[in-house]
Amino acid sequence: MSTGTHHGGCHCGAVRYRVEIDPGANAIVCNCSMCGRTGAVLQFVTPDKFTLESGKDNLTDYQFNKHVIHHVFCKTCGIRSFAHGKGQTGEMIAINLRCLDDVDIFKSVGEAKQFDGKSR
Ligand SMILES: [Zn+2]
Repeated sequence: MSTGTHHGGCHCGAVRYRVEIDPGANAIVCNCSMCGRTGAVLQFVTPDKFTLESGKDNLTDYQFNKHVIHHVFCKTCGIRSFAHGKGQTGEMIAINLRCLDDVDIFKSVGEAKQFDGKSR
C-alpha cells in the first residue's frame, strides 16, 4: 500500500478515527503483557496524522508498567483500536492495523516486525 487516509475504529462503531498511514510499512507485533494478550498489530504515527472523529467519551484509559502509554479501549465493545503515549521522539499514536476498515490484515501482518516488548 502507500500512505493515504484510512478510517478505523472499534467494533461497535462508537470510536472512529482517520489516520494518514501506509499500512504495513512499519508494522510491529509485540510480546509485552498487553500486546501479547490482545494480539494487536501496531504501527506508529505522529499525532498530526491522527484525528479522533468520534467516541472520545466512550474510551476507557488503561495504564500499566511505567504509565507512559495510554492503552485506551472502547467501553462498550472492548476493542483497543489505538493507543497513545510519549515515545523517545515525542508524542506518538499507535494504530492497531487490525482496526482499519480497508486493510487486509493478512497482507499487513506478513511484514510485521517482532518487537520484544516483554524484555523492556
Ligand atoms: Zn466500541
